[in-house]
Amino acid sequence: MIGGHVTHSLLLNLGRIGDRVNAWPSAITCQLSRQHIYLLVLCLTEFEFYVRMPSDPPLFPLCFDAQTKPLGMSSTNVSTEAAHHAIARLAEHLPDPQCELMFNSPFELLVATVLSAQCTDKRVNQVTPSLFKQFPTVRELAAAGTTEIESIIHSTGFYRAKARNIQACAMMVVEDHDGEMPRDLEQLCQLPGVGRKTANLVLGVAFRIATGVVVDTHAGRVSQRLGLTTQSKADKIECDLMALVPKEQWIDLGHRLVLHGRHTCTSKRPQCDTCAIRDACPQIGVS
Ligand code: SF4
Repeated sequence: MIGGHVTHSLLLNLGRIGDRVNAWPSAITCQLSRQHIYLLVLCLTEFEFYVRMPSDPPLFPLCFDAQTKPLGMSSTNVSTEAAHHAIARLAEHLPDPQCELMFNSPFELLVATVLSAQCTDKRVNQVTPSLFKQFPTVRELAAAGTTEIESIIHSTGFYRAKARNIQACAMMVVEDHDGEMPRDLEQLCQLPGVGRKTANLVLGVAFRIATGVVVDTHAGRVSQRLGLTTQSKADKIECDLMALVPKEQWIDLGHRLVLHGRHTCTSKRPQCDTCAIRDACPQIGVS
């Protein structure tokens, strides 16, 4: 990796610069607010992290390694109290959130999650029983031909790329991990077709290891409407959510946001009139 890590002390020093800027004359302050300085620090930090060689293992913005808010950069659209209240109401509404994908092993969950890209969980659940019946183990899937996989998963869309990734994933798990699913975020992210969202989901659901908050399109939308974030990109939204709740809540929070977005706070017609958490929702962006 070019550059190396931005150290905590460097960030703290930059944060202090931000504090000092607040003491500058108001003409300057109004153009260079504390928030701008923090955004600048964030950009520099992320630039550092994202300038990578293709062969480098995945690295993530600093906030993904921290349980607490880095430099107070969380970008909620409501007060922290209001954000916590909304999260608590969501937890009351969905006390035991579960992943809706069906699976019998961590590897099956990984495959189901890869298949769920641009596809509903319902459809994936219709396809995976046939797939795992024909290829019951990771070794059998590794030895399978992609055309065989394609014919089974065809209805999930993007089937060629998904078949290629699933077969390559199985091969890598067999060859590099002796057939066992890695329980490490970075190792998981090295598998073909596996990004941070998939790795978070697999680690959280299959192993109850909290490495982040799963942010898909539903979770992102609900987070924005509840005012938990002002961000639009999944990784930034995840940073905000991770900063809002302790690590023990990351897994369930992700599930709750996904489920609420899928079943109630839908994209086109959110069911605000009957929504169980309406009292805690500022309905940001809902017309
Ligand atoms: S009140 Fe409406 S916008 Fe708010 S969470 Fe419920 S459905 Fe979504």
